[in-house]
Amino acid sequence: MQSDTIAAISTALGEAGIGVVRVSGAQARDVVDRVFRLPSGRHARLPEHRGLFYGTVIDPFEERPIDECILLWMPGPRSYTAEDVTELQVHGGIRVVEAVLEAVLQAGARLAEPGEFTKRAFLNGRMDLSQAEAVMDLIRAKTDLARRSAWAQMQGRFSEVVRGLRRRLLELQAHVEVTLDYPEHDVEAVAAERVVAVGQSLVAEIDRLLEDARVGQILREGVVTTIAGRPNVGKSSLLNALLRRERAIVTDIPGTTRDVIEEYVNLRGIPFRLVDTAGIRETEDVVERIGVERSREMVVQSELVLLVLNGSEALTEEDIRLLAETRGRPRVVVVNKSDLPSAWEDAEIRAWTDGDPVVHVSAKSASGLGGLEEEMERAVLGGEVRTAEAAYMTNARQADLLRRARRDLEEAVHAASVGATLDVVAVQLQAAYGSLGLVIGEEAGEDLLDAIFSQFCLGK
Ligand code: GDP
Ligand code: ZN
Repeated sequence: MQSDTIAAISTALGEAGIGVVRVSGAQARDVVDRVFRLPSGRHARLPEHRGLFYGTVIDPFEERPIDECILLWMPGPRSYTAEDVTELQVHGGIRVVEAVLEAVLQAGARLAEPGEFTKRAFLNGRMDLSQAEAVMDLIRAKTDLARRSAWAQMQGRFSEVVRGLRRRLLELQAHVEVTLDYPEHDVEAVAAERVVAVGQSLVAEIDRLLEDARVGQILREGVVTTIAGRPNVGKSSLLNALLRRERAIVTDIPGTTRDVIEEYVNLRGIPFRLVDTAGIRETEDVVERIGVERSREMVVQSELVLLVLNGSEALTEEDIRLLAETRGRPRVVVVNKSDLPSAWEDAEIRAWTDGDPVVHVSAKSASGLGGLEEEMERAVLGGEVRTAEAAYMTNARQADLLRRARRDLEEAVHAASVGATLDVVAVQLQAAYGSLGLVIGEEAGEDLLDAIFSQFCLGK
């Protein structure tokens, strides 16, 4: 248990019906005693079990009332942090909530660091590291698919898979260790065979988890999608049509710059970060060239390109050049202005599309957008469309550890298969076991924990 008591505002700062200040630690009870009064003016007598009290928050020095309050009392270990926790619900005005926090700090708590409540929950064994990380994924989820996936991980389903891998690895290690103590050639050979067989099956399972990691990243960060095309083909109109059709995702990512407009949109459960480029073209104008270069850069950085062509106008050299330039990247060719008579046939661009999907839409009349969304989903998830539902929100840290464990396992398998001495194999198995442990936070050092929890929001 940590010795000091922490406090923070747990709700978003702004005007709202209610705001919550959360306190956790051994002195939570004392804090309540100093800042909370029942309607009778008396102190609340906090029970050994959970409870809810109505009363007033006061500032502890002048004893002046700050606001009405619903006080939740959750003594440890049956609380979020496994410590004594109290939550003061007050009116959600910025100054009200801040004054309550100040009162709580004056009463002996200290301001919590970002993620510190969850860090304590982890340190006190309430959840493992991958579950703790899933808490933030849940809070940040931009689509229902991401939300459901984070929820599954928070429930420990991913951790369970990792623990299963570790159990099998530990058995294998035990087998190898025993052999090391009794070095007889036959016994060694049997152990080596087992390392190869079990090692390979563990590698295969890790590969499946790494597949999920890719989907997890998509769900977490969104697919960076560039809308490219020469001027006036309808890029901005297409962006707006997609935004109007789907609930736009509110985001704190800076939006409009001089040459690039960026919006999040939720299409079929996948967050797409749509980037409207200023128009890719050759130009003499220096200012415009910066915009054009930036557009090219965006195409290179993006994970999906929507290449927009104007179906009602003859193809230009620029269109063809863009078709050639975006070749080989995940791409959907969008033939816009289908409400107008078409000036060319799909066959004319077939030489450059390499079998990439070509969809006809009208951004103006909003037709054909469903088909476009379908192709966007397919371009991103491919055959993984259905597995996205079950995928874990494996993050970059976890994926990196899984890759390390995989590499050590492969080396162990290789060493065992070429008849290397088993102590070499044992070292690699041990390393793989350690990496898998770090995924769920076993033996995680303070540095790692600080790095992870500092990314959390305040009050969580
Ligand atoms: P951008 O330069 O590629 O971003 O193109 P805009 O979105 O600004 O559109 C250029 C012009 O084409 C505007 O006058 C739009 O109203 C028009 N436009 C865009 N999409 C369509 C469409 O689907 N049908 C028709 N008829 N006009 C369109
Ligand atoms: Zn535009």
